[in-house]
Amino acid sequence: MSKPEAIQIETILTHLRALVSADSSEPERTMTANHPAMLYAMGVLTDAGCDVEITDLGGGCVNLFATRGETRTLFNCHLDTVKPNPMWTRDPFALDVEQGLAYGLGACDIKGAAACMLAVAQSTDAPIAIFLSSDEEGGKGVCVDSFLGAHAGRFARVVVAEPTNAKAVFQHRGFASFEIDFSGTAGHTSGADASSESAIHKAIKWGSEALELARPGGVLDGSRFNIGVIEGGTASNVIAASAKVRFGFRPQPSPEANELAQQGIDALRTLLPKGGGDAWSERFVGPALSRDDSMIEVVESWGIELGADVDFWTEAALFSAAGLPAIVLGPGDIAQAHASDEFVALDQLEKCAGAYMRIVGCALQTPMMTGGTHAP
Ligand SMILES: [Zn+2]
Repeated sequence: MSKPEAIQIETILTHLRALVSADSSEPERTMTANHPAMLYAMGVLTDAGCDVEITDLGGGCVNLFATRGETRTLFNCHLDTVKPNPMWTRDPFALDVEQGLAYGLGACDIKGAAACMLAVAQSTDAPIAIFLSSDEEGGKGVCVDSFLGAHAGRFARVVVAEPTNAKAVFQHRGFASFEIDFSGTAGHTSGADASSESAIHKAIKWGSEALELARPGGVLDGSRFNIGVIEGGTASNVIAASAKVRFGFRPQPSPEANELAQQGIDALRTLLPKGGGDAWSERFVGPALSRDDSMIEVVESWGIELGADVDFWTEAALFSAAGLPAIVLGPGDIAQAHASDEFVALDQLEKCAGAYMRIVGCALQTPMMTGGTHAP
């Protein structure tokens, strides 16, 4: 490998500017293999000597997979963003650099990391593998599932970009979200059976019993159980024929996390009124990311700062669940993600690009396939 060039912050900002201007806030509507963000990344990575393959899975799910040489370490970053909220005071799609901060939609979550990856690929000829996806914010997991099906065996570990202040994160909570549609029988509330026939009454009874499970000693204790939506009915003198409850919880990481999460789900379902008629549906279930001890040694060998556990969910859990050890590592703070006037600090971009460079350098020295000090 020839000596890597130092990465200039201007190079990272050039990439970030291009990616931010490529609106990817509604991937299900706009994301295809020809989306400007995908084409830009493909152009940079092709020029950097990578083989680049773009796969359009439909429905806004597009994968870009770039490789140069053989490496056992995979980088992953999503290129989709949330929609800009009405509180933005700047143009969300025009990168604005001011006093050490780069403002733009997705600058923090997580196009800044993608810009760092592109800059790293350009500034060295070390082996590198980058997988960019487009359906993270929608929580579909289609991109990662498809990628794993095709390429998982090639890699020994994955570095998933999300905002971690450029520190390596080994664990985070899971996230499980559901909806229940309670059904009742509409009628006049003067009837003797009004109380038991109301869908809203059923929903409230279920909710209060569910909250008991989240109290100390309950099966959901410590899981951040939350009922986020409860709606239904039409008037105070009409028995509610329907009511909807949306809720979620966030199981803590541990070797038993998935088992405990399933126990929580089972307990919540058991609380449903007997006799059926109420529809339970899953909205999203993502496992917790529990530490893979082999990754501690690997990250220390890279010389990257170890971070504390985080509470937000990432797709690192999907790789880990498929047997591929994963860490989360990206520039910026989660506090700015999804926020109006989202920004990433320039020193975070520099720090993260430096970390990615060390990973690439280290990956180069890692013996391929089996054995060696870094192999998990
Ligand atoms: Zn993200």
